[in-house]
Amino acid sequence: MEINFQGAKTIGPVFNYEMNAALWRRRFIQTLRIYPVVMLVLLATGYGLGAFRADADSLIPRSVIMAVSYFIIGVVPILAIIGFIVIARANDAEYKKAKEQQGKFIYDDAFTIPSEEMHGYKLAMLTRRPPMLTGLTGDPYTADSSAVCTDNPEHIPPVVNCECGFYAYRLRADAQFELSINPGAFMLDVDLYGIGFIYDRGFRAETQVAHHLTVPGRCMRCKILTPRVFVPVFHLGPTNYTWWQWETRCSFCSSTFKEADKLTFPQMAEELKITVGPRRP
Ligand SMILES: [Zn+2]
Ligand SMILES: [Zn+2]
Repeated sequence: MEINFQGAKTIGPVFNYEMNAALWRRRFIQTLRIYPVVMLVLLATGYGLGAFRADADSLIPRSVIMAVSYFIIGVVPILAIIGFIVIARANDAEYKKAKEQQGKFIYDDAFTIPSEEMHGYKLAMLTRRPPMLTGLTGDPYTADSSAVCTDNPEHIPPVVNCECGFYAYRLRADAQFELSINPGAFMLDVDLYGIGFIYDRGFRAETQVAHHLTVPGRCMRCKILTPRVFVPVFHLGPTNYTWWQWETRCSFCSSTFKEADKLTFPQMAEELKITVGPRRP
């Protein structure tokens, strides 16, 4: 189970197409939000001008207000539903197109495998005792390992039309963004080897060697002081997600832990067989 799907959702052209569709959906929903406001303003205006009074001397005929109300209550929601259907269809079409485009990034011919060095960045958690590098999907792996496909035992990752293989971002900035939305994770510097698929934003390959784990600048609990040690925190959850997860903490936030439970950075490096410390230049 040494497989990791992290990053798969933001690779290459798929990312861009999804961005487009998402943008349109967002704009449409933003426009729809003013619908109740428009309705209230119209009703208030109608009321103010006397359209709801029974007597005949109102400024706007009652029939006009009724027609406008029917339009707003009956027709606008139908237009909105049609709008959502159109956007959803555009979404599907773009997704299909993106899938087809994705195929073009794949090297089917073994003689044109990329010669580019696949050095990249990715996120990992530290789980279990003793600690192990763990993908965001929960699958543990060692610093030097080959991917295994969990869907099809016949696969030697990476395989066309399958998600198997080790993933990494090409740019540190992309991994950094992922890190900002996965606060329990650490950033790894990795090299990928073997047959590799190269995407716009990263790589997918058979073998991965992790070199360095970057310790965040601040304690993962108080977010203020400088971290000094790793401590194991028990995470309770659905069966697969119940585990010991290691965090870097300052001296204060780690003071309740037994000395035997704490790991210094060199000790963690020893356990994981990679370097552990501040961001590597
Ligand atoms: Zn596979
Ligand atoms: Zn702290």
